[in-house]
Amino acid sequence: MRHNDPVSIWGLVSQETENYYNDLVEREVDLAIIGGGYTGLSTALHCAEKGLSCHVFEAKDIGFGGSGRNVGLVNAGVWLLPQEVNKILGEIQGKHFLTQFSRAPEYVFSLIEKYRIQCEVARTGTIHAAHSLKGYSNLKLRKEEWDRLGEPVDLLSREEMAAYSGSPAFCGGLLDHRAGTINPMAYCRGLARAARAAGASISCQTPVSKLERNASRWRVITPNGEIMARNVVIGTNAYTDELWPGLRRSIATLPYFQIATLPLGNRIKTILPKRQGLWDTGKIMFSLRRDISGRLIIGSMGDLLGSSKSGVSCQWARKQLCRLFPGLGPVEFEQAWQGQIAMTSDHLPHVHKLSENLYSAIGYNGRGITTGTIFGKALAGLLTGEGAETLPIPTSQLNNFKGFRFKAAFYRIAFAGNQLFKSI
Ligand SMILES: Cc1cc2nc3c(=O)[nH]c(=O)nc-3n(C[C@H](O)[C@H](O)[C@H](O)COP(=O)(O)OP(=O)(O)OC[C@H]3O[C@@H](n4cnc5c(N)ncnc54)[C@H](O)[C@@H]3O)c2cc1C
Repeated sequence: MRHNDPVSIWGLVSQETENYYNDLVEREVDLAIIGGGYTGLSTALHCAEKGLSCHVFEAKDIGFGGSGRNVGLVNAGVWLLPQEVNKILGEIQGKHFLTQFSRAPEYVFSLIEKYRIQCEVARTGTIHAAHSLKGYSNLKLRKEEWDRLGEPVDLLSREEMAAYSGSPAFCGGLLDHRAGTINPMAYCRGLARAARAAGASISCQTPVSKLERNASRWRVITPNGEIMARNVVIGTNAYTDELWPGLRRSIATLPYFQIATLPLGNRIKTILPKRQGLWDTGKIMFSLRRDISGRLIIGSMGDLLGSSKSGVSCQWARKQLCRLFPGLGPVEFEQAWQGQIAMTSDHLPHVHKLSENLYSAIGYNGRGITTGTIFGKALAGLLTGEGAETLPIPTSQLNNFKGFRFKAAFYRIAFAGNQLFKSI
């Protein structure tokens, strides 16, 4: 057991314990996996269950990336409207993609149950909250689209939304019954535990520094030793480094910060009483949820400015909670953190075949709990001969996300300005 600075509140309160795995033994394996988040661990779990020998390399600790830092919304689908997905992928592939993603939360919940992962699961849906009348019109459109596909979503009136959220501030909402909330770090640790029990090995604090092709095998090189692998999967998403040329430049990263209050006991009896998490329709969105112990966790796009005790982000959070819940009274914050979100130019996640027997799944656009889990399962299918059609999305060429570095810099400034403005 190691003691690092916590990456978020989720690790501190997780019932799944933190484990420092150190299984690296120089040998040959069927599959080397780079990244100890949902993608890497789901790939490891599903591959190990199919009898492949696999080893996961994690540069830091399990859940160090987005998987240990996120909001914990187990959402179906992607940000795009179903119609937009079909426009990009075509009707047949689009339908396949949307079906896989609609079923994805159910699959995540089934893994949680199967492996008895202690991750505060609430299968009560998630809510897209309308911050304005225009936002509400947008939700109506989404509702119509999901209705056409027969998916279980409900449009909530202003009054219903007030009852679900405990706040009079929203114009309405869209409740997605397929979805739910979890402690995201606990889920990640649970996947690691399950993958290891299935036969996968894991080494933490072991960054892969080089991949070399050597007589139809990959030589996976780290400062702690190396292994030979028939196949490699890179699952490093927003935390991708320069390991594979061009992979990092295929995505753009945006920051998202969150702040957790101390447990608020009876004071939050009427706030999200059924434990749905929500995010709003604002251009610079914010998210809000509660945990099983009665903490409120609020976050938004942007860097964490200050700490949980003082600074702009803390002041922003205080103001927002006061605006949303005028009767709540003063709150103290326990933990604040931020993470990186990997964006793609078409807003869809990508699977790349980077070279012979070398794959990467990347660019989840802030929807990674389901995406990482089902991509891991699909990659396991692909590597055990099930064919590329098992993938929710066809493999694509690695493309440079042009010009986004400048846009990202602009967004960061806009996010900071937004926080500053709303914290006064
Ligand atoms: C603040 C925030 C809120 C979010 N909210 C949600 C949400 O509510 N719902 C949702 O579905 N998604 C959400 N997301 C997105 C989601 O967290 C990610 O898409 C998901 O965690 C990606 O999982 P992953 O396994 O692909 O990558 P990660 O979990 O990011 O893991 C990548 C890992 O690779 C490791 N790594 C990098 N380079 C190397 C190397 N060379 N060698 C070895 N290891 C390496 C890193 O240390 C890291 O641990 C959010 C993301 C953030 C940041």
